[in-house]
Amino acid sequence: MKERTLTIIKPDAMKKDVAGEIISRWLQAGFQIKAMKLVRLDLKAAEGFYAVHQERPFFKSLTQFMSSGPCLVAVLEGEDAIRRNRELMGATDPAQAAEGTLRRLYGSTVQNNAVHGSDGPATAAFEIAYFFNALEIVG
Ligand code: ADP
Ligand code: MG
Repeated sequence: MKERTLTIIKPDAMKKDVAGEIISRWLQAGFQIKAMKLVRLDLKAAEGFYAVHQERPFFKSLTQFMSSGPCLVAVLEGEDAIRRNRELMGATDPAQAAEGTLRRLYGSTVQNNAVHGSDGPATAAFEIAYFFNALEIVG
């Protein structure tokens, strides 16, 4: 089924100047980019995005990291896009991520792991609407 997912090139990957390589991988994988923008999250915006993790011990550090520099946020569309983007990303911890995945290639720690991808249809809907209004998504 054709679906949409929200993906983010996180501040660590932006600082490493690998956004171009990551975008190429999305396109090679057959995703269509339906929306994309550069954003600098403030702490409040990062906290809102990761609200599901607010009780986790890493929440403060994670939200500080996500607001530490610009992110590139995008909506990808394709068959089974949510699962396929998670597969392209690899496991949360880059050290555990499969060879050739984005996190294995470009992540450095479990926190600074280069990319975000929605993990299900409900989170994808919430996360897409968090960053984009209907006019900003190309139909
Ligand atoms: P994923 O991004 O793979 O869906 P989670 O939803 O569990 O992973 O966590 C959200 C983000 O929080 C991760 O991508 C990572 O940046 C950070 N994170 C997860 N686990 C840890 C941890 N144990 N220590 C520090 N940061 C973490
Ligand atoms: Mg998650």
